[in-house]
Amino acid sequence: MIYGTTKLLGIIGDPVTYSRSPVMHNYALQQLGLDYIYGAFPIAKQNLDKAIEGMWYINSIHGFNVTIPHKEAILPYLTQVTDIARQVGAVNTVTRGESGWFGTNTDVQGFMIPLQKMDRSWANSGVLILGCGGAARAVVVAMYQLGCRNMTSIGRSIPKMQEFQAQMRANLPSLSLKVDEWSNLAQYLPSANLVINSTPLGMSENPKLSPLEMEHLQLLTQGSIVYDLIYTPRPTQLLKWATEAGYQTIDGLEMLLYQGVSALEFWLEIDIQPVVEGMRQTLLTSS
Ligand code: NAP
Repeated sequence: MIYGTTKLLGIIGDPVTYSRSPVMHNYALQQLGLDYIYGAFPIAKQNLDKAIEGMWYINSIHGFNVTIPHKEAILPYLTQVTDIARQVGAVNTVTRGESGWFGTNTDVQGFMIPLQKMDRSWANSGVLILGCGGAARAVVVAMYQLGCRNMTSIGRSIPKMQEFQAQMRANLPSLSLKVDEWSNLAQYLPSANLVINSTPLGMSENPKLSPLEMEHLQLLTQGSIVYDLIYTPRPTQLLKWATEAGYQTIDGLEMLLYQGVSALEFWLEIDIQPVVEGMRQTLLTSS
C-alpha cells in the first residue's frame, strides 16, 4: 500500500521504460516491510537541472538511481560524491544528504561481486575489456580495486579511447591501461585470462551479434573467464560460444542484481542479504 508517509525511490534517465530496477527494488522493499516504493522517472537531457532541483524540495524523495544519459551530467548537481564515483567519473545512485544530494557508483560493486565470489586472486590477471564507454570505466575501477594494475581496452574510436585512457590514468595513479583498435584484437587474446564485454553487441535487439567470433575465443588459454555485462538475452551469443569452447562464463544479471543490492544498502543503511535471492529470482522471472 502507498500511504501519506511512503517514501519514494526511483530511476531517472531517458528512456527508463525498459528498466528492470522497479520490479527488483519493489520486491525487496515489500519483503523488507519498508514504507517505500520505487518508480521510473523519465527526465530528458535538457531538463536534468530543473528536475534535480525540484526533486530536492519533494521531501518524500529519499534517493534514486541514474541511468543514460545522466550518469556523468549529474555530477555538478551533487554536494558530495564517494571516492568510487569520483574514480569512475559517473554516478548511478544518489541519496538525500543533510544539505544536498550525495552520489555513488554501485556498478563497480555490482561488477566485482561475482568475481569476488570466485575466491581467487585477480592481481596478475590479463584483463581485456571490449569497449570504452561508461560501463568500461566502472569495470576498470573494479579490477583496480581487486588489485589488478595492467589492463587493455579495445575500442573503435581513437579520440574516445584516448579520453578514456587519460581519465582512468588520472583517477587511478598506478594503473597501466593500454588501448587499441579492434583490428589488433587477436594479439591480446592469448594472454587474457579475463575477457569482459562492455559493448552492446549481442543485446536482445541483435542477439546474433557477438564482439568475438569462435576463432577469437579459441585463442584464449584454458581456464579463461568470459564476462558479458549484457543481461538480455541470457546467455548471449558470446557466452554460448565461450561455454562451447570450455571457458567459465559470467553474465550481466549478477551485476544488475548486485548494483541494486548495493544501492539499497546505500539508501537504507540496513542488511539486504535476506532478500538477495528473492531479488535474483524476481529478475529471472520478469525477463
Ligand atoms: P556506452 O557508454 O554507450 O558504451 C558502449 C561501448 O561499446 C562504447 O565503447 C562504444 O563505442 C562500444 N560500441 C557500441 N556499439 C559498438 C559496435 N557496434 N562495435 C564496437 N563497439 C561498439 O554504454 P555502457 O553504459 O558502457 O553499456 C555497455 C553495455 O553494458 C550495455 O550492453 C549495457 O546494457 C551493459 N551494462 C550492463 C550493466 C549491468 O548491470 N549488467 C550495467 C551497465 C551497463 P563508441 O564509444 O565508439 O560508440
